[in-house]
Amino acid sequence: MKKPKLRELGEAIKALIKGPYTTKFPFAPSPAAPAYRGKVEFDDKECVGCGACVEVCPAKALEMVDDIKSGKRQIIHHYDICIFCGQCQANCLTKKGINLTQEYDLAFLKDRDKQITSVEKNLVFCECCGEVVTTIEHLRYLAKKLGPLAYSNANLILINQEELGLIEGPAEKEEIPHKRASLMRILCAKCRRQVVIKEEWGEK
Ligand code: SF4
Ligand code: SF4
Repeated sequence: MKKPKLRELGEAIKALIKGPYTTKFPFAPSPAAPAYRGKVEFDDKECVGCGACVEVCPAKALEMVDDIKSGKRQIIHHYDICIFCGQCQANCLTKKGINLTQEYDLAFLKDRDKQITSVEKNLVFCECCGEVVTTIEHLRYLAKKLGPLAYSNANLILINQEELGLIEGPAEKEEIPHKRASLMRILCAKCRRQVVIKEEWGEK
């Protein structure tokens, strides 16, 4: 039998005194490194429901669901298919709406469809055709960000006025004519184009 070398004996004695190098996880917490990309979480105060993160997610782990009936938009994250690439956080409009935390203990055995986290915002509809324009929170964010430049966009002017209490929130859908007078309404891009073009060419 080979005799143990001095170095190996030294290591064995050190290990006896110091204890094992391995962590006791999952029996004791073992925090991840600060730069670790773990579970994705929304910040409800900072997210405006713009949907930019949904567009850039390469794994389709983010989903945007507009419920016309309740007037709510949900941004849903399915962490069972997330690849933790960080694209959503890097491209978030507000830079703080979605974050990758250091949480890595995400194992589960059932209810795959329940492994989600979500955020809910309020939809704004075109007052002419009823199409979804975006969310109220998104328009308010843009108006604030643009400052005086927001006064070049009718939707943002109206949202600013609503915040100042000068007008009530976006009106219900109604049959409004595509005329210049309708410009000062919340309109989708298609209806606003029609309002401008029809007025310009004198169409009725
Ligand atoms: S970390 Fe990557 S895969 Fe996961 S939700 Fe964000 S963009 Fe999608
Ligand atoms: S604000 Fe950020 S987290 Fe919220 S929907 Fe837009 S990109 Fe996604």
